Amino acid sequence: MAQNPGEVLDHFNLFRQPEYVEMLTNKKKNFENPIPVEEVERVRDWAKTQEYREKNFARTAVTINPAKACQPLGAVFVAVGFEGTLPFVHGSQGCVAYYRSHFSRHFKEPTSCVSSSMTEDAAVFGGLKNMIDGLANAYSLYKPKMIAVSTSCMAEVIGDDLNAFIKNAKEQGSVPQELDVPFAHTPAFVGSHVTGYDNALKGILTHFWQGKERVPNEKINFIGGFDGYVVGNLREIRRMFDLMGAAYTILCDPSDTWDTPTDGQFRMYDGGTTLEETKLALNAKATVSFQEFCTEKSLGFCAEVGQEVLALNHPIGVAGTDKFLMGISRLSGKPIPESLTRERGRLLDAMADSSAHIHGKRFALYGDPDFTYGMAGFLMELGAEPVHVLATNGGSAWETKMTELLASSPFGKGCHAYPGKDLWHMRSLLFTEPVDFLIGNTYGKYLERDTGTPLIRIGFPIFDRHHHHRYPIWGYQGGLNLLVKILDRIFEDFDRNTNVPAKSDYSYDIIR
Ligand code: SF4
Repeated sequence: MAQNPGEVLDHFNLFRQPEYVEMLTNKKKNFENPIPVEEVERVRDWAKTQEYREKNFARTAVTINPAKACQPLGAVFVAVGFEGTLPFVHGSQGCVAYYRSHFSRHFKEPTSCVSSSMTEDAAVFGGLKNMIDGLANAYSLYKPKMIAVSTSCMAEVIGDDLNAFIKNAKEQGSVPQELDVPFAHTPAFVGSHVTGYDNALKGILTHFWQGKERVPNEKINFIGGFDGYVVGNLREIRRMFDLMGAAYTILCDPSDTWDTPTDGQFRMYDGGTTLEETKLALNAKATVSFQEFCTEKSLGFCAEVGQEVLALNHPIGVAGTDKFLMGISRLSGKPIPESLTRERGRLLDAMADSSAHIHGKRFALYGDPDFTYGMAGFLMELGAEPVHVLATNGGSAWETKMTELLASSPFGKGCHAYPGKDLWHMRSLLFTEPVDFLIGNTYGKYLERDTGTPLIRIGFPIFDRHHHHRYPIWGYQGGLNLLVKILDRIFEDFDRNTNVPAKSDYSYDIIR
């Protein structure tokens, strides 16, 4: 065998050794019902055609590679953003292993989350016992200040009642009566991770605010929504609020838990919105959400308690950041400081410097509804065309808003929004109406390989590149980061297409 303790090969090289090549060839021949190569090629070519696209878009009974995750993932995101809070999913262990690994692979940090370990017996008889034992174990082992409960598919299919179960568990002494245990039902078979975010956040706000008297003050609540760049973005938001001199509370801030220092100490909990801040946030004069479609119910609840609500759509770039800062200025009564105005000018300057290279480039993009809205707006600001904009978890309201946005600019002409479609639909779009670049998460690398469309990794999750989440994409600074990321890929492409000596290298330039 090629593998031996004296020379350990990693998977890149190991599976290229002759014995593995032979084994894989035999496996294909003997067990995989091999189809002739010509037939595979024929079908592959047919699946690139307009005829196939029409069949693909007529498909109703199956989803292939949806660009979304299930509700509890969003609920876990929310829980991580509160001080000393342990996410607790009432359901099976495998689901929770997925949430933990999904976040850990993206943020390159451990993500703590427990389950009530429901198995077959709980699926038949209900999961009350699992809740009672699970809360008791979680509390005594991990000593949280708050346990935020959500549900996986299994608990929702059998209809477990979280409110009654948690009351019951408290009565039986699993956790102290006074321990904060907010909850949200997060059925994974409807909505997506953004719905789960919304339900979980509303659950926490309801737990702390319902039935309490509101004494309005001048503070502003800020909700970021489900965001893969939360580490860099929330620090940028804090910086902008501080420069504005406005008093604010960030509701749900996981930026420290997903960015703990290496200093020999494991921090299961770090930072987060304190429980005291969360209680007092009821009194804020307004709540600003950076992701309207991700926080519909939470914002509805904020409005119900009497707060003014400002719903934005993942603002990226100049106009988006302007709208945010003007909103904060109006709400706080403070002017936008010169330092931020200068940052705006610098972003505009950078956009102008590079506009010759990005102007007229055609993009396809996919992701969450608010992200795609903000990103499409920024692309048009740059003079680029967001030709295909796809959100698997986008609905008709997103489609209407997106279509209006595209119609508002000459760069949106001929561009379309695709709600409820998946990445197999995107494949058909890329083959039949090709674009220059694709923007999306790591899963887009298969589309890049398949269709030859260069992928610019922006979104969630990013598993195969490191540390992107540390850099903001919000605010003028964030716009600059994104501009550089997009330009780098454009220039790499220029270089790749011009590097053949004596053939194309008359354009293989040092200066771009
Ligand atoms: S879809 Fe259902 S089974 Fe799958 S991870 Fe989500 S909750 Fe678990």
